[in-house]
Amino acid sequence: MHPITPSSAEDLAETLADAALSRRTIAVVGSGTKRLMAGPLLPADLILGTTGLRRILQYEPNDLTISVEAGHGFCELQELLSRHGQMIALDPPFYPKATVGGVVATNCSGPMRRYFGTARDMVIGMKFALLNGKVASVGGMVVKNVSGLDLGKLMIGSFGTLAVMTSVNFRLHPLPEETNTFVYSFHDLDEALAKRDAILAGPLRPMAVDLLSPPAAARLGWNNFVLAIRAGGSRGLLRRYERELSHSERLTGHDETTWWALLREFSADFLRRQPSGVVVRVGTTLSEMSQLLHLVSGPFIARAASGVSYLYLTSWQGVAPIWQAAQKTTWSTAVEFAPDENRQGKDLWLVRSSGKADNSFAMMKRIKQMFDPNNLLNRSRLYGRL
Ligand SMILES: Cc1cc2nc3c(=O)[nH]c(=O)nc-3n(C[C@H](O)[C@H](O)[C@H](O)COP(=O)(O)OP(=O)(O)OC[C@H]3O[C@@H](n4cnc5c(N)ncnc54)[C@H](O)[C@@H]3O)c2cc1C
Repeated sequence: MHPITPSSAEDLAETLADAALSRRTIAVVGSGTKRLMAGPLLPADLILGTTGLRRILQYEPNDLTISVEAGHGFCELQELLSRHGQMIALDPPFYPKATVGGVVATNCSGPMRRYFGTARDMVIGMKFALLNGKVASVGGMVVKNVSGLDLGKLMIGSFGTLAVMTSVNFRLHPLPEETNTFVYSFHDLDEALAKRDAILAGPLRPMAVDLLSPPAAARLGWNNFVLAIRAGGSRGLLRRYERELSHSERLTGHDETTWWALLREFSADFLRRQPSGVVVRVGTTLSEMSQLLHLVSGPFIARAASGVSYLYLTSWQGVAPIWQAAQKTTWSTAVEFAPDENRQGKDLWLVRSSGKADNSFAMMKRIKQMFDPNNLLNRSRLYGRL
């Protein structure tokens, strides 16, 4: 089925309302890069594409803000901003093809989340089309403009289950003057984590701190556990890093750019190479990271200063031991990517029998009911639960 691709927010809202009136189910698609992500794709009567919405609506370089339509390519947007020495401080996977709407709807992030945060820290406003045919506008073009409930936050990470974003406003950051990456290799996981702890306790504020298991490091041509620290700033600041992070290998220029692009696209590359592959995301405290990572013998990449680890399993069988371990903890655990056949009817987001997560899902269901009472929009995309 060919997607319908309206070229204005109002047309898109009208298309949604027509579909809702006749109770047709709808699947929303940007560039279609993340079909293996989160909840299973269920058949839909209407495929609604956002690629007709590709305009820059407002760019204020002096205010460090931009408003852009949701079907705009994320990479093209960053290229445009880089010509002005600016960036959206997000480096999500599937970067070359992803759309702005797809990145925000999935709340994808990458190594830079260590310093800058995630889409929730970057989005300052948006417009979204509702199933009743209206276009809602929330937030604006200034960083502190929210009074009342910040409804835009609801859309971030909602996988298009509530409404369709038609444009997004971002706060921008200046591109760092220069960047360098400092890489350490360790035989022992706990030594690597001890180094991380020492760096975080010190004066440095790196842009990214990633820890790779030996099989993950091997994909980048390294041995053992690898700890990579990315620094950005003035030449003077980078010299300070060089002094503080002695005995590391320094990556610069093309080598450094390639290194971080490989890390950013590690999941995308893994899924291409391993058709039965599963990626599990686990959020822990920094101190619990050791307990989690000791359970893993295969590839992992840990955003080691943010507490988010991505575990790469060759098949669904590997999920059960992680689930069992996570049940006894407070780790937030989800199957981020898996083949279609593994996602139907499976538990993709760990909900513990003890209270808290159950309550939050009950509330999420009520919110879904308010936006989409007949369950027409992107059915089951939110980890099979909404
Ligand atoms: C050519 C083509 C034909 C298709 N044919 C069919 C078909 O016959 N039957 C069928 O059931 N499905 C069909 N689909 C839809 C497909 O099954 C998926 O639902 C769709 O491609 C979403 O994939 P994705 O997650 O990779 O999208 P991405 O673009 O990577 O988006 C990621 C997530 O973000 C959401 N999203 C993206 N942009 C926005 C936005 N602006 N606002 C809110 N949420 C957003 C998406 O819905 C998705 O959940 C087709 C898709 C394409 C491209």
